Amino acid sequence: MTQRESSPLREPYGLVGGGAEREASNEETTEVHDPATGDVLTTVPAGTRADLDRAVESATEGFDRWRRLEPKERGRLLRRVADRILDEEERLATIETLENGRPLEDARGQVRRCARHFEYYAGIADKVQGEQIPLGDGYVDYTIREPLGVTGHIVPWNVPIYLFGRSVAPALAAGNSAVVKPANLTPVGGLEVGRLANEVLPEGVLNVVSGAGSVVGDELSAHDDVEHIVFTGSGETGVHVGRNAADAISDVVLELGGKSPLVVYPDADVDDAVTETVRGIFTGAGQICSASSRAIVHEDVHDEYVDELVDRVESFDIGPGLENPDMGPLVSKSHLEDVLRYVELGRTEVGDPVVGGKRIDRPGYFLEPTVFDDVPNDARIAQEEIFGPVLTVTTFSDEAEAVKLANDVEYGLVAGVMTNDVERAHRFARDVDAGQIYVNEWFAGGNETPFGGFKKSGVGRDNGVQAIHNFTQIKNVCLKIE
Ligand code: NAP
Ligand code: MG
Repeated sequence: MTQRESSPLREPYGLVGGGAEREASNEETTEVHDPATGDVLTTVPAGTRADLDRAVESATEGFDRWRRLEPKERGRLLRRVADRILDEEERLATIETLENGRPLEDARGQVRRCARHFEYYAGIADKVQGEQIPLGDGYVDYTIREPLGVTGHIVPWNVPIYLFGRSVAPALAAGNSAVVKPANLTPVGGLEVGRLANEVLPEGVLNVVSGAGSVVGDELSAHDDVEHIVFTGSGETGVHVGRNAADAISDVVLELGGKSPLVVYPDADVDDAVTETVRGIFTGAGQICSASSRAIVHEDVHDEYVDELVDRVESFDIGPGLENPDMGPLVSKSHLEDVLRYVELGRTEVGDPVVGGKRIDRPGYFLEPTVFDDVPNDARIAQEEIFGPVLTVTTFSDEAEAVKLANDVEYGLVAGVMTNDVERAHRFARDVDAGQIYVNEWFAGGNETPFGGFKKSGVGRDNGVQAIHNFTQIKNVCLKIE
């Protein structure tokens, strides 16, 4: 497989398994498109069930090698994976921009976040500790936290390189091996990171199989030799994956969608509130699970907030991610069409948006950043995850109403509040049902802080020290002594 001249992409790609790039079981390939132009970038293997089975076999052998290494040695190797990713930051970021569309500067940040996951969990690899349980003089009792075995990771297209690291790094640090299925729209980042990691890791520890979710993802989540699945994606697919995992008696973490409220109190700085809203909903063209898609704004500051928001959005610079604009394209034609259907629905539910709402007349899949004002909370555009650059603004008059509106949705991934009243901020954190609460900064926190959803937003938590225990099982050892 060769690198194409003056392109960060190679052609064609193979799968990653058995410590190297490996050929797929058949010749079928999937085209990868550039959402900024619609052009074909490269092709990847359309993996089959046989390819997935082979990857699981490779991971089963890899697990045997990996678990025997001393924990500190596993940590050192994961640290080297982080370094290899950072060495290639610019190339990987360009790949992320090409296949996903996000602005290059954002993509660089996502590559660093991926590396940071390997670095962070490298430091935990030798701290996966059990405990001693007192049973009195007649016994010695202790627990061991053992790895599970082969873990499966199904990754979506919206932040492919970062979510690869978030999913895989703690599993490997706990001593498991991994099989990853990247999304069909954006498979290259995962194949590239997998290949880099395989320069460092023992054979079989990390395997990547591109291919359709309904084939490779289905087989992975249903596989009897896979002990744990991390699924990041839509609720509908999550339910299917969860059922497969239940049949295989495998554990799951489900990281699903969101419809996250950003509440603006009248004591907040309106300028800051607009800044956080714009970052929260238009980063990644709104294709972020934790996007601030519902602004819930106090009636006293509503007009100032909306005027300022419209001003900022009108001056947005939109274009191909490689030009580092404020916002790039949506990921695909079909996703653009889905989002446009929501814009049309919004027009019938509440009237024209106060800004945006149109596809941009140029090649690629660009949509104007769009804001609907005066949206009743029971409108479908305020309840359903649109997963695009579409914000709804809803007004409230007192704190109880704000909290009620924030909670009145089936999701509970994140919630944010803009206020300078510290007690109000804590009340919001206490009363709002979401896995993470942001106060005065959207996307606050990092890979050190637990991340996951209440309600329909998921099951389990990624990130932080505790995510390591998603990937361990406790063995209790009890000895009788005289
Ligand atoms: P999706 O359609 O559910 O796809 C996610 C992954 O599942 C892809 O790799 C997909 O493969 C695979 N898949 C599809 N059908 C499958 C099946 N029958 N069995 C097993 N796997 C299957 O979701 P998406 O549209 O790509 O991603 C957007 C969603 O992800 C949004 O709802 C967003 O909120 C959510 N998300 C959540 C988080 C979080 O941390 N909570 C983070 C990011 C995104 P193919 O694409 O190759 O078919
Ligand atoms: Mg199982």
